[in-house]
Amino acid sequence: MVVEFKKIPASGIHFETRTGDVHFFGEAVKVDKTLVKCNGKLFGTIQHACDRCAETFCLPIEETVEVFASEGLYTDKEGEELLNVIEFFEGSIDFDMIMQSEIEAFKSDYHYCGQCELLKGE
Ligand SMILES: [Zn+2]
Repeated sequence: MVVEFKKIPASGIHFETRTGDVHFFGEAVKVDKTLVKCNGKLFGTIQHACDRCAETFCLPIEETVEVFASEGLYTDKEGEELLNVIEFFEGSIDFDMIMQSEIEAFKSDYHYCGQCELLKGE
């Protein structure tokens, strides 16, 4: 799902997209001239190789996502807290790309299959 920056108002729009068994949906709100805040949720299951035994298993994902989309280069202002910003240079926001990047961030944590979860407790 791709939406032009100029089509996102300060009152916000609803967005929704999916890949495989994962849904990504929420609200996109214009918060600054070139900045859009996306509040959403990742929900579903992904195939993941267990970080202990490398066995592939179904990993449930349920993550609250707060990410900013910048139209063009983003430079953070001094004294401001660091934001989770993704830059877009084509004049529009690619929600599929945001979803992919959030899924990758989620997968970069350690996740164990059911069997290894059991062993871990011993
Ligand atoms: Zn395992």
